[in-house]
Amino acid sequence: MDATGNEPLKLPKQLLAEMITHALDKDPEECCGLLVGRGDSATRLRRIRNVHESLSNRFSMDPLDVIEAERDADGRGEEFVAIYHSHTYSQGYPSDTDVRNATENGWTDPFYVLISLVEKTRPVVRAYRISGDGEVAERFIRVLGVGGYTSGTTPPGLVE
Ligand SMILES: [Zn+2]
Repeated sequence: MDATGNEPLKLPKQLLAEMITHALDKDPEECCGLLVGRGDSATRLRRIRNVHESLSNRFSMDPLDVIEAERDADGRGEEFVAIYHSHTYSQGYPSDTDVRNATENGWTDPFYVLISLVEKTRPVVRAYRISGDGEVAERFIRVLGVGGYTSGTTPPGLVE
């Protein structure tokens, strides 16, 4: 288990809508971006260009976009709360490549948010933590503005 605990990602309804819109805008390419804020609370969304050569099943965040986002967040005393991307043909679960990217880049602090567009009319959004040794654990998403907790279906055994 990683040290980040099992707290939910706190996400305003507006940002949830913006993320889904971004995913649908880019479909069938994968979209990617950052949720910025403090601790477990996202307050802003930044679209990041996907610069991977295989846009429909991989993502790679434009390093210049990320540096700019980092500078901007620093200036506001904020941090990257989550990295999001879409899966246009597969379920909203981190792929082996996603896990490898996270551990190799040392991006294990932020949540990982997946937007699955397998059913185009019913996007599924789920959040995870990926630990340094590649362990994936699903986290609840607490959507602010609609009350209560919500998230995608949780596969058995994923969350204790
Ligand atoms: Zn992925």
